[in-house]
Amino acid sequence: MGILDTDIKYLSGIGPKKAEILEKEVGICTFGDMLYYFPYRYIDRTQFYEVKDINAEMPYIQLKGKIVRIEVVGVSRGKRLVAHFSDGTDAVELVFFKGLKWVVNKLKPGAEYIVFGKPSVYNGKINLIHPEIDLANETAMAFAFNMQAVYSSTEVLKDNFLGTKAFNRIQYELIKQVNDKIAETLPQYMLDAYKLMSLKEALLNIHFPQDNDHLQKARYRLKFEELFYIQLSLLKQRSIRLEKADGFVFAKVGELFNRFYEQNLPFPLTDAQKRVVKEIRKDFGSGKQMNRLLQGDVGSGKTLVALLSMLIAADNGYQSCIMAPTEILALQHYNTINELLKGMDLRVGLLTGSTKKSERTVLYKGLLDGSITMLIGTHALIEDTVQFKNLGLAIIDEQHRFGVEQRAKLWSKSDNPPHVLVMTATPIPRTLAMTLYGDLDVSIIDQLPPGRKPVVTRQFYDSKRLMVFGFMREQIKEGRQIYVVFPLIKESEKMDYKDLEDGYNGITRAFPPPEYVTCVVHGKMKAADKEYSMNLFAEGKANIMVATSVIEVGVNVPNATVMIIESAERFGLSQLHQLRGRVGRGADQSYCILISGDKLTTEARKRLRLMVATNDGFEIAEEDLRLRGPGDLEGTQQSGLALNLHIADLGRDGQLLEYVRGIASDILSDDPLLSNEKNILLRKQLVLQQEKIKNYSLIS
Ligand code: ADP
Ligand code: MG
Repeated sequence: MGILDTDIKYLSGIGPKKAEILEKEVGICTFGDMLYYFPYRYIDRTQFYEVKDINAEMPYIQLKGKIVRIEVVGVSRGKRLVAHFSDGTDAVELVFFKGLKWVVNKLKPGAEYIVFGKPSVYNGKINLIHPEIDLANETAMAFAFNMQAVYSSTEVLKDNFLGTKAFNRIQYELIKQVNDKIAETLPQYMLDAYKLMSLKEALLNIHFPQDNDHLQKARYRLKFEELFYIQLSLLKQRSIRLEKADGFVFAKVGELFNRFYEQNLPFPLTDAQKRVVKEIRKDFGSGKQMNRLLQGDVGSGKTLVALLSMLIAADNGYQSCIMAPTEILALQHYNTINELLKGMDLRVGLLTGSTKKSERTVLYKGLLDGSITMLIGTHALIEDTVQFKNLGLAIIDEQHRFGVEQRAKLWSKSDNPPHVLVMTATPIPRTLAMTLYGDLDVSIIDQLPPGRKPVVTRQFYDSKRLMVFGFMREQIKEGRQIYVVFPLIKESEKMDYKDLEDGYNGITRAFPPPEYVTCVVHGKMKAADKEYSMNLFAEGKANIMVATSVIEVGVNVPNATVMIIESAERFGLSQLHQLRGRVGRGADQSYCILISGDKLTTEARKRLRLMVATNDGFEIAEEDLRLRGPGDLEGTQQSGLALNLHIADLGRDGQLLEYVRGIASDILSDDPLLSNEKNILLRKQLVLQQEKIKNYSLIS
C-alpha cells in the first residue's frame, strides 16, 4: 500500500460526502485515481483579448475587465441575467440563463474579473453565454501558472462544488502531498534512451504545466508509458502461449477436404481466401494452439473459409463448432453449410435457444459419441450440458458480440484448448487490433469475390421519401428485393418499435398487397416467426423486408439490391457499413439509401457523408475511431474491452503505439522473462498492470 492507495476522502478539502460523489460520478476512489484524472484541455492564461477585437467566429477566449451593470431581462423561460462587461476598449454582454441568484450574488460591479468563454451573436450583438468568470486577483493568487488545466466534470459534480476549479485546487493539494513520493515506473535506461521526462515531473506538469513545452513532454511520457505497458503485457502473453506446445496437430488435409474442394466448391476461392486457408493450415500443423482473428469486410466470404477449416479438423478426426451471435445467423450458417456439403456424409447439428428438448437430447448424444462432426449454434453452445467427444476447432463469428467469459467457457470444453478462429466483419483499425488483440494472429481477407459492383450510396432527407418510394418501385419491377431498416437502440425500445410499426404501415400503404409482399423481422418476434419471415424473403417471395437492425449481422440474400436505412443519423458508422454490406452480394448494381432528418449534428453529417464517399470498411473503421474514440467503438464495450486509457488516444496515437510496440518487442526478445537486473522494474509494473487491466484479449 503506497500513499497513492489512500482513500480520497482523507485528502484535505474532500471528506466522505464528496468522496462518495467522486466515486459514483467519475470512479475516483484513491489519491492515485485522482492523480491520474487528467485534464482534457488547458486555458492559456497569458493570452487576453480586447473586447473591441472579438467576433463570433473566435473559439474560447479570455478577457480582463469590469462588470459595469447587471440586469435581469425577459420573463419565465426567456428570463436571463445580463452582465455588461467592459475592458475599456469596448463592452460585451455576459448572459446567464441558469443559477441567476448565484450569479447575482457572485458578481460585484466595479471589481476586476477574468472572463473565459466563447463569443456568439444574439440579437445582432456579440455576447458570451455562461462564461467562466473569476475575480482577477483570485485567479492570479490561487495558481501562478500560465496554463490552467480544465477537467471534465458532470452536473452532479458541479452541483457539489466539484467543478473544474475545484479539481484545480484538489490536484494542487494532492501534488503537494504526494509528488515527492512518486516512484518512477520506467527504468532509467529507457528514460535516457527515449528521452522521457520522469514520472514525477510528468505528473506535476500534466496538472500544472510550467509551459507548453513541458506540457507536451509530460503528455508524451505518460502516453508512452501507457501504451508501452499494454504492448509489453500482450506480447509477453503471446510468447507464453507460443511456448506451450499444447495444440492439437491436424497434420493432414484428407479425403473430406479434397472431396469438397473438387466436387462441392461452388466457385473458385479468391486469392485472399486461399491465402487465409494456407495461414490456418500452417497453424493447424504447428503443434501450437491457434488463436487467429480473421478480419474480412462483409461479403468477403468468411463462411467458406470457416467450412474449409472445419473440414480439415474432420479429416483429422476432430469435431468443430461455429458460434454465431444470433439465431438468425446460426440458422443461416446451418443452411448454407448443409447446402455446401450436399452429397457428403457428414452430420451437422444446430443448437440454439429455441432447439426443443427432444432434439437436444439427440444432439447431446451425437456430440458425445462423435457422430456429429460439426455443431452450429448460438451461445447455447457454451452451456455446461453441451459436451463434445473431441472438440478440435472453435469458430466464433462476429466476435465482438461475445463477452470474453463466454469465449473462455467454450475453450474449457476440451482437455486441450481447441484451435480458435475468431471471425469479424467489423474491420478493426490496425492500432486498435494491436492493442486489443495483440495476442492474436491476424488474417485479413482484403478482396471481395469477383463480379461485385460497389454499392452506390445516397443520402436523402425525410422530405424526399416519395422519391425513394418511386425508386423502390422501379427496382421491384426489375425483380429485385429491398430491405428497410429502422434503428433499435436499447434505451428507447418502445419508441423504436413504434417507429418500426409506423414505418411498416407506411410501406404497406405505399406498396399494398397483393401486388407487393412485405415481411417484418425484429428482435422481439418468436424464433419461428422470424424464421418464417426470413425464409419468405430469402426465397424471393417477399419484395420488401422491414426490419430492425437484427439483420445487421450476416443475412445473405444476393437478390436484394436496395438497403434503405431509416433515421440513418442514429446509427454509428460501423453499423451503417454492416447494414450496407447486406446488399451488393449478387451481380446486379446495388444501392444503399440513407434517410435522415434535416437537422443533423456535425458528427452525424460527417458520418453520412463518409458513407456516401467510400465503401472501404477499413477507412470507415479508422474514421469511426477518430470520431468516437475506442471506448465507443462498436462492440468493444459489449466484449468488455475496457482499456481504460487515461491519456493515449488510439485514434491519434497510432504511430506512437507502433513505436512502443517495437520497443517492447525488442526488450522481450532480449530478455523474454524480464529477469535481467535492469528490467526488474518492468516485470514489477507488468504485474500491477495486469491486475489493473485484466487481459481482455487473452482468449485461451
Ligand atoms: P461474410 O464474409 O460476410 O461472412 P459470406 O461468407 O456470407 O461473407 O459470403 C458472401 C457471399 O459471397 C456468399 O453468397 C458466398 O457464397 C459468396 N462467396 C464466397 N466466396 C466466394 C468466391 N470465392 N467466389 C464467389 N462468391 C463467393
Ligand atoms: Mg458472415
